[in-house]
Amino acid sequence: TLEQAAVEQSLGPDPSRLETKLSTSPGPSDKIKSGEVRWGTLFTNHMFEAEWHLEEGWSVPRVVPRHSIELDPAASVLHYGLEVFEGLKAHRGTKDGKIRLFRPDKNIRRMAVSCARLGLATFDQQMMLECLRRYVMIERDWVPHGRGTALYLRPTCIAIDPKLGVARSKRNLFYIIASPVGHYFQGGNCGVNLLATTKYFRSFPGGIGFCKTGANYALGIVPSEEASRLGCHQVLWLSDAKNRFVTEAGVMNFFVLFKGSKRPELVTAPLDGTILDGVVRSSILDLVRSWGTIDVSERKYSIDEVVQGIVNGQVIEAFGSGTASIITPVTGIHYQDKMYPINSETNKKITPQLLKSMQDIFYGEVDDTFSWNV
Ligand code: PMP
Repeated sequence: TLEQAAVEQSLGPDPSRLETKLSTSPGPSDKIKSGEVRWGTLFTNHMFEAEWHLEEGWSVPRVVPRHSIELDPAASVLHYGLEVFEGLKAHRGTKDGKIRLFRPDKNIRRMAVSCARLGLATFDQQMMLECLRRYVMIERDWVPHGRGTALYLRPTCIAIDPKLGVARSKRNLFYIIASPVGHYFQGGNCGVNLLATTKYFRSFPGGIGFCKTGANYALGIVPSEEASRLGCHQVLWLSDAKNRFVTEAGVMNFFVLFKGSKRPELVTAPLDGTILDGVVRSSILDLVRSWGTIDVSERKYSIDEVVQGIVNGQVIEAFGSGTASIITPVTGIHYQDKMYPINSETNKKITPQLLKSMQDIFYGEVDDTFSWNV
């Protein structure tokens, strides 16, 4: 399996051999405080990098001043999209100032699985986690202060062989860059409308929907512009034109809270290979299961079930989840030329409670009972 392939592969990059060359650029300014920078436009002074070669394995890893990358115009990444990335956050404790990475092991594992599927270099996950940790230590002054802020980390792997021909590349470059961030959605986290469409589909059985790779995002740009013309922020991806199972919302996993017959039921799509195994998704499932007051279902459900539920009052809340925006309330779904608003009055129960619970853990304000932070 891909999981096995990801685990069994090459040793490295070895954090005990990490070489560091410090930047002479000035450190972070007050600009990195919440809200003052547009998401993902400001970067720290250093990057982590290591190369992988089919015969030589992993190079000595380095943390160096952030720099441009020179690529041969025939590099595979530029032609066949042979690239994989991740997104995770380091938060600064609001009480103790300590820096915590949220479940980085999950991102590292998901990256190894994505790499295995696309034929990119896999790595020792423990070693990679330690490299990441050391990089964040070097960039620690860039982790912003304040609830709602974080240092967003972007591990990336690209195939750099100068070779035209669709085949596994012999040389890969792995790097990590970092960006201090505040809120993902401009204007804060007040809710998004979603366009459920049967015109575009994101993934299919046997495809790469579970991978975090550029192609899965490139295909969404034009549909999301169409969504915005209809007053929506993102696309609500459906499985196919016939079954119309709800899968994900833009770059978030998607949840619906139904009234249920006895207890409320929190529903999200199952990990069938067509959706991303979201770290926040998985944490929400664990959290809500631990409450014991709401039934939690990972099951297939159709857009028609959701829309009917909105019309007959069975849908209490809906929200998206993801590292960037954490938990985002959904205020309406546009489907077959009609907008179905989700009552904003009722939309005030578990969505804000979940966001608060997650943030309390991120910022070290409560005991980390699940041992999620590193
Ligand atoms: N689905 C997609 C397509 C995404 O890009 C993301 C963001 N990584 C998610 C779901 C949420 O995943 P996570 O909770 O790990 O950020």
